[in-house]
Amino acid sequence: MLPFSRVSIIGLGLIGSSIARAVRQSMPTVRLTGHDASAEVREIARRIDLTDDVADTPGAAVIDADLVILCVPVGAMGDVAAAIAADLPDDAIVSDVGSCKTSVAQALSAVLPEARVVPAHPVAGTEQSGPEAGFATLFRGRWCIVTPLPGSDAAATARVEEFWRRLGAEVERMAPDHHDLVLAVTSHLPHLIAYTIVGTADDLEQVTQSEVIKFSAGGFRDFTRIAASDPTMWRDVFLANKDAVLEMLQRFSEDLSQLQRAIRWGDGDALFDRFARTRAIRRSIVDQGQDDAAADFGRRHD
Ligand code: NAP
Repeated sequence: MLPFSRVSIIGLGLIGSSIARAVRQSMPTVRLTGHDASAEVREIARRIDLTDDVADTPGAAVIDADLVILCVPVGAMGDVAAAIAADLPDDAIVSDVGSCKTSVAQALSAVLPEARVVPAHPVAGTEQSGPEAGFATLFRGRWCIVTPLPGSDAAATARVEEFWRRLGAEVERMAPDHHDLVLAVTSHLPHLIAYTIVGTADDLEQVTQSEVIKFSAGGFRDFTRIAASDPTMWRDVFLANKDAVLEMLQRFSEDLSQLQRAIRWGDGDALFDRFARTRAIRRSIVDQGQDDAAADFGRRHD
């Protein structure tokens, strides 16, 4: 039996539209309704037939839903939850896909009954945004971290987990604060570093802009992909996950100082040991199917 039969998606960007496409593929009998604050996005969603209905207001989108998934930037979750609260059917479950969980859990439980709130975070994405950037296989073989609240209904949590499994994801359960710490290291800090490096290279006066672009394959290019990620989404992530990010940034600065010291004193062994350790981490990510083993991240060179 399907975990849900009437799913509403609020926010039809990369993640929302990918969920819609994946539901159409894996649970074709589910009735899908979508809503986005942007009239232009709603128009695109109608044109590409993303969902069965596209509602003009958040309230109208949830009126007969049994699952509502909020796919808006983390900073907008509270406002959207407040906007749907009055129209939400009694038995509907509300979930989200936000990249930080403690702040979202607080924002949702402040205006919705905690038993019906089951936050989640699919750890899958690209640097693209918008309804046309989504694709049905985005979650396949990727993790979805479900972070139930102390008062979340157990059956509701199990149904949300089953929903994500049907979209092809592997599901893991975590406490919201633990999720935020793990993601601060694996996702938020790398984005901050990429934003810094690309910004620094852009500011350097000794190297011309055209040389930065021309010789970008030397490592810089991979940072530019990450640094092209949506500015609204990432502004909200750093504001919402402030404590965990600052803690990880402190550790990172200490490690960076150690490397700086090793370079200054010509300590090749320290550099070699560090680089050998990180190479092994890359191998285990590929071994666990979380990235492509092809050279240069599978880029075509023909
Ligand atoms: P996106 O492509 O920019 O889509 C977000 C959509 O939500 C936009 O169409 C936006 O409209 C709309 N929106 C903003 N505020 C709204 C509101 N109050 N009511 C209704 N719609 C609203 O972003 P995304 O990448 O799908 O990210 C959505 C969520 O997924 C975020 O919470 C993010 O943290 C999480 N997430 C992202 C990734 C990733 O790699 N991108 C991965 C996992 C989770 P406007 O364009 O008009 O603002």
